[in-house]
Amino acid sequence: MMEPVLSLNGITKTFRDGEKSCPALAGISFEVAAREIVCIMGPSGCGKSTLLRIIGGLDSADAGTIDQASGNKDGKPSAAMVFQDHALFPWLTVYENIVYGLRLSVQNLPEEEIAKRAESLLDLTHLTAFALSYPHQLSGGMKQRASVARALAIKPSILLMDEPFSALDTFTRRELEDEVVRIRQDLKTTFLMVTHNPEEAIYLADRIVILSGRPAIVSDILQIDLPYPRDPADPAFIRIREQVTRMIRGKA
Ligand code: ADP
Ligand code: MG
Repeated sequence: MMEPVLSLNGITKTFRDGEKSCPALAGISFEVAAREIVCIMGPSGCGKSTLLRIIGGLDSADAGTIDQASGNKDGKPSAAMVFQDHALFPWLTVYENIVYGLRLSVQNLPEEEIAKRAESLLDLTHLTAFALSYPHQLSGGMKQRASVARALAIKPSILLMDEPFSALDTFTRRELEDEVVRIRQDLKTTFLMVTHNPEEAIYLADRIVILSGRPAIVSDILQIDLPYPRDPADPAFIRIREQVTRMIRGKA
């Protein structure tokens, strides 16, 4: 495997609420290599979102370590997050949403450089014509594309996505999945994505990490060797989908 961009070692987390304790993660370890697309699957409530939030720095683990390669020039590790609900600021235009985090995370970046980066991301996500639109003027798919563009603006070492396309219709969803593959190709981005949809995972992922609950442990890691673009009607694809579905059901 190439140099890992992310390495999880024994990530453990228990939620406590007074007397009650709810163990969520019990020693999660795996690595994600540069330019890999890794999907995380597992039964509902098994701790997938919790794990992603911990990696993204939005929550903390009780035990375990996270080693992360740096994504930017100042050497600071960076992960960017895309949520199921677009989480764009409704009072900012698409352009301003995209550059918002960039302004915060990179101090004194010249306005010219900010504009250049925003324009290339608008182009990449086919949103150039909507740069000055507000989120409520966009379709669901466009909102998620804008969220992806915003996350990519800080040039993260890894893009963390928590069921990012699950609120979209089937056709829009497939379009966005194709964009993930294209963005990986163009920008050499690394993706770690939670999905509950086996077809989506097999369509996209180099590897699928299957968690079993609860508390979650890594129960399987499946390498998907099918060439891109993948065809869900391909018998090999269908066989893998059945295998993944069995693996997840067995762990529920
Ligand atoms: P998934 O994303 O796999 O559906 P989550 O990571 O959201 O699962 O949740 C895993 C478990 O942790 C669930 O049992 C959930 O109820 C619990 N949990 C998640 N967040 C919190 C929290 N902030 N406080 C208490 N329990 C939580
Ligand atoms: Mg979740």
